Amino acid sequence: MKQRVASILVLMSVCTVCLLLFQFYWSYEAYQGTSRTYRSDVNEALQAAVDREMEHRQDEIADKYKGWLADSNLVVIQCHIDSLSGLTVFSIIDSEPSSNDRVEFTIGYRKPGETPSRMTPTAKKYLIDRFVGTQIRENLQKGNASYYTRRLGELMEETLRQNKPDKERLQRLYIHELQERGLDTDFRLHFAEEKLAASGPFPYATRTIRFGFRKPYDTLKASFPDPYQTLLLRTKWVLLVSFLLMAVTVFCFAYTVLTLLRQKKLADLKRDFVNNMTHELRTPVATISIAAEAMQAFNLSKTSSDEYLAIIRQQSGRLSQLIDGILKNLAFEQDQLELSPCPLSLQELAQQAVLQHRPQLDAAEAETEFDFPTQPLLVNADELHLLNVLSNLIENALKYSDGPLKLHLRCREESGRAVLALKDNGIGIPASVQSRVFEKFFRVPSGNTHNTKGYGLGLSYAKTIVERHGGGISLQSQERQGTTFFISLPLHQHEPAPDTVA
Ligand code: ADP
Repeated sequence: MKQRVASILVLMSVCTVCLLLFQFYWSYEAYQGTSRTYRSDVNEALQAAVDREMEHRQDEIADKYKGWLADSNLVVIQCHIDSLSGLTVFSIIDSEPSSNDRVEFTIGYRKPGETPSRMTPTAKKYLIDRFVGTQIRENLQKGNASYYTRRLGELMEETLRQNKPDKERLQRLYIHELQERGLDTDFRLHFAEEKLAASGPFPYATRTIRFGFRKPYDTLKASFPDPYQTLLLRTKWVLLVSFLLMAVTVFCFAYTVLTLLRQKKLADLKRDFVNNMTHELRTPVATISIAAEAMQAFNLSKTSSDEYLAIIRQQSGRLSQLIDGILKNLAFEQDQLELSPCPLSLQELAQQAVLQHRPQLDAAEAETEFDFPTQPLLVNADELHLLNVLSNLIENALKYSDGPLKLHLRCREESGRAVLALKDNGIGIPASVQSRVFEKFFRVPSGNTHNTKGYGLGLSYAKTIVERHGGGISLQSQERQGTTFFISLPLHQHEPAPDTVA
């Protein structure tokens, strides 16, 4: 049995540890996964923000270019029909060439259903939109300032050189991109000129992104002062449920182990109890049978027969006490205690219990004192069981005293309850085990118990009975000074007298 319990405990411990490890690993993996997604999200968002910023800048330059083309002080746009292809051919020429070197560029477009042969505002607008939308956009993407005409080339060159990123707009775009990915986190943008280290401790930064129209390119990276908080917030439910599961598993494991150990201890104590009982039962049975045989076999004198009969009576009394003990144990073990309560005076009950033990008390030369109020304290109680409880307490006072016993009984009414205090001047109970003496089968382990007989059932029986009456039992004790047991019971409530009908 011991072996089996030990194996089950080992198996359960291994399973619980494995479960916990697995749970830890799973939570760690979930955290790592979220961390990876977070890192890729903040990088992707930065790239997207930079791309959109570049689009804005291209739009701005394209709009400027349209303005230059529309400005006839800068360029002159002409057109004619190409005789071979039948298409309209436009040419853009600087209006004020500084020298004779006129830079001319010719392009041909066909507008569905229209082939203008001379410049009109519609044709000019058409040309500007198509030219900027295709040619210039393509050049901007490559960072070229193509000199379609010298003036336009110079203006483009100058604009590209002066064009700088709009930091505030980038900030707004990044916030937007982060929010699109469900990230509401604090960050700082670091442009090329800023040193990351000098800007503070940042546990996580994105990769550096290069952008701009031409060399030297701008560089940008974002850093996050508290990425762990965001990560924890993102994984909070997974982690919370995981830790809750772990806590429940550990609690169940601890509870099962404790219950198993308690059951095992109880089983051991019970086995001792049965062994003791068997031994104790054997002695009176053997004594009775020897006495009876002797009376049968020998022709005994009247005096001797009386002596033998006295032995038989004494031993059978002992036997019935032992059987009582077993029955008591069985009864409250199986929760089969049937109580028959009726209103009783607590003082009278205490006096009755003392009276029952008068011979033993006298033999021990015990002094008994009563401190009872004159008014009877009525409690609703089962006489037999409550008497048994008081008997146990008096027997204990007799058993656990090492000098002339002084027994003091006091009854009081305290906050609507009847309280009986039974005080002795015995060996006392060590403070460390006072809370355990009401446990079943518990006996004070050290020298306290001497060679006194007992099964550790009296006080646990007393507790069960008193609690079944809606009361409570407690003690105060000091080693070598004595012990006081307090029993408190609800006072009997008087039923209102039924109305008498005339
Ligand atoms: P037992 O059959 O051992 O007397 P009880 O349940 O009546 O069992 O008491 C439990 C233990 O409490 C006893 O073994 C004893 O050590 C201690 N005890 C009980 N009453 C007293 C007392 N009046 N004085 C000192 N120790 C006591």
